Amino acid sequence: MKKQNMKMETAVIHQGYDSKVHHDSLATPLYQTSTFSFSNAEEGENRFAGNSEGNIYSRLGNPTVRVLEERMKEIEFGEGALAFGSGMAAVSAILVYLTKAGDHVLCSRGIYGCTFGLLEIMQEKYGITHSLVSMTTEEEIEQAIQPETVCIFLETPINPTMELVNLEAVVAVASRRGIQVVVDNTFSSPYLQNPICMGADFVLHSATKYLNGHGDVVGGILVGKDKEEIAQLRKTVQKDMGGIMSPFDAWLLLRGLKTLHVRMDRHVANAKKILAFLQKERSVKKIFYPFDPSHPQYDIAVKQMREGGGLISFEVEGGKKEAQAFMNALSLIKIAVSLGDAETLIQHPASMTHAAVPKKERDKMGISDSLVRLSVGLEHTDDLISDLAQAFEKAKLELQEI
Ligand SMILES: *Cc1c(COP(=O)(O)O)cnc(C)c1O
Repeated sequence: MKKQNMKMETAVIHQGYDSKVHHDSLATPLYQTSTFSFSNAEEGENRFAGNSEGNIYSRLGNPTVRVLEERMKEIEFGEGALAFGSGMAAVSAILVYLTKAGDHVLCSRGIYGCTFGLLEIMQEKYGITHSLVSMTTEEEIEQAIQPETVCIFLETPINPTMELVNLEAVVAVASRRGIQVVVDNTFSSPYLQNPICMGADFVLHSATKYLNGHGDVVGGILVGKDKEEIAQLRKTVQKDMGGIMSPFDAWLLLRGLKTLHVRMDRHVANAKKILAFLQKERSVKKIFYPFDPSHPQYDIAVKQMREGGGLISFEVEGGKKEAQAFMNALSLIKIAVSLGDAETLIQHPASMTHAAVPKKERDKMGISDSLVRLSVGLEHTDDLISDLAQAFEKAKLELQEI
């Protein structure tokens, strides 16, 4: 395992920034500029040729964005990082970078809805195929690999069922076959899981979620364990497809990131208290949380994650009607997609984030109509639990009256 220069708690605050070269400014300055001027034509020529260090144009690099990239590189144990305008811009950049017409991408049994949408476009337009399989053992993964497979793209825990992928098994098979492994680490954040330390080649994040943590930025991050590959990505797909992060969003992210460890500790502590409450609630049929000892892959969870995270999915007794009545009865907890914010959010995957997945597929993935997903925020758990309790009660009474 690669050793960090600093502990993560220190790196999220200091890494990649030197105040001495920024007029002693404590906070990272916001370089809100599209372009940079050269002192003469030769300097411009040299920068373009890569013979002299320096900025050219913000799509090719911006000092505020660079600080964020340096920081992310460190906390995900990589050798290089790139910031994008959204999580999906990071997903599309790495998939375009790794594939060509005729290739195959092997995916975990669940992947983010838009990642699935992108893979469908790639299949239709460029003949790049994909398949979704369970990845708990090496045998399962071996069997799913095709001669055309160039990369394994996975999420763990999988949204919203919290099913886990066995990272050790994936990396073992991939390295035997010479296949690259890409992990969407959005759900865990770098604080709870570091796939590069386990042998993954690339890690990506929707920075919109825990990294920023304040629900006011859409962004993406890609970290790689090979410096040259990240440099290549920067010079090619990132520059030419252009899905870069704005300096202002990088500035907000640097601000949000400083408290990642503090926030994650509280998200986890709150999630554990809510889990204990839900386990006793009679209107709850089934709970999905990685660090719940009754989780079918609890052994994998404790091996590859430091804690179970801030997301809990659960099925309410009944079906869609009961789930929606419960959600409507909440008052403090907001009905919204996205996750990782200070506010506790609840959503109904079957009709929202996974509505585009055909019902038959949803059933196979374990996404029933009674399933809701809770992103536990940073409020006091007494307030959250009393909101949940009154909503279960209110929904029950309302449905009895009908
Ligand atoms: C939100 C999310 C994405 C997409 O990120 P955007 O920032 O919305 O583009 C990708 N993967 C996961 C797991 C997500 O939760």
